Amino acid sequence: MTTILIRGARILGGAPSDILLRDGVVAETGALAGAKADQTVDADGLVALPGLVDLHTHLREPGREDAETVETGTQAAARGGYTAVHAMANTSPVADTAGVVEQVWRLGQEYGHCDVQPVGAVTSGLEGRQLAELGAMADSAARVRVFSDDGKCVSDAVLMRRALEYVKAFDGVVAQHAQEPRLTEGAQLNEGEVSARLGLTGWPAVAEEAIIARDCLLAAHVGSRLHVCHVSTAGSVEIIRWAKSKGWDVTAEVTPHHLLLTDSSAERSPLGPYNPIYKVNPPLRTADDVRALREALADGTIDCVATDHAPHPVEDKETEWAAAAMGMIGLETALSVVQEAMVETGLLDWAGVADRMSVRPARIGRLAGHGRAVEPGAPGNITLYDPSVRQPVDPAAMASKSRNTPYEGLTLPGRVVATFLRGRPTVLEGKLV
Ligand SMILES: [Zn+2]
Repeated sequence: MTTILIRGARILGGAPSDILLRDGVVAETGALAGAKADQTVDADGLVALPGLVDLHTHLREPGREDAETVETGTQAAARGGYTAVHAMANTSPVADTAGVVEQVWRLGQEYGHCDVQPVGAVTSGLEGRQLAELGAMADSAARVRVFSDDGKCVSDAVLMRRALEYVKAFDGVVAQHAQEPRLTEGAQLNEGEVSARLGLTGWPAVAEEAIIARDCLLAAHVGSRLHVCHVSTAGSVEIIRWAKSKGWDVTAEVTPHHLLLTDSSAERSPLGPYNPIYKVNPPLRTADDVRALREALADGTIDCVATDHAPHPVEDKETEWAAAAMGMIGLETALSVVQEAMVETGLLDWAGVADRMSVRPARIGRLAGHGRAVEPGAPGNITLYDPSVRQPVDPAAMASKSRNTPYEGLTLPGRVVATFLRGRPTVLEGKLV
């Protein structure tokens, strides 16, 4: 196996250090002037982070290979600095059996440019009627630990309680897409001034907050682990802060787009009003919500950033608002958006970014080989990032099969220069290896 010497990287933004990768692991760090390696990577001025981990990726395979495949989605992940992604279960067929999660897991082994950890559905067919084969998925080769009906909410309180009880047997976690279905029938955009002006059906914050409050109480009642997907409102933050203050085992994620964009984008955008590029579930909220989400990520109330990378083909997005699919791609821009929203604002340093984008998501997903400090003995999962550049976002240059990024034309900071998965480069000089 080849050895790679990374020269002069600033680990977590600290002083320059060399990093020697050998046999898939970090062999040595520090001043390694005399070290010999098969390949040397100049990392002068680059920040070294542990390989990023996404708890929430839609890879679309099987079923919607026109939107994304395991291969293209993991290429996008590697380009974004990720070494592991959790693949959401709302595929076709739904990942609700050991057979389907093993299929996704094998696709990841064969075609993945990063590790692919399948998420199992909570209910059969995401129908919310009966529990899926949670135990069989946990025991399968995919070793599923995260279960989610994402895209849909497990709205039935009894089913949610049973799922929370069931996953305790194998240290699993239920990741809830918190959306009270009756309160969001036909909902299009955050319920508020902008939705009123645009005449789009409102999506009230309470539809998210009511489910999160209920689920925190249920998780505490049965002594289980709850993870809240894509928190989007200031009220949700308050509820999660309260649940954590009680010592309950509740974790939460926020997406990059909810840290940067607001519902006013749907009205005043360089891309024009009513542009469905901004249509997403949960919806973009207000500037007050964005402020609360940033503060919550900074103080740890929200544990991590998760992309909710949701690729859609052009015909599903470039249509009228009400008919357009919900979702945005995000793997290739996540780190830049986090730099813009959290680092440039002084809310997080690079150690904080590593914690929220690698360490904590790996821990929540129980991925032992990821989210480790860049130090001798750790797996060689490393991202080299140049925070000093600013460049316009170019959808055409992306590896994802889909182009539905809301950042087109926006100038964002930073660039992923290299990604290493177990000591081998998946990206070098910003390009796929
Ligand atoms: Zn969701």
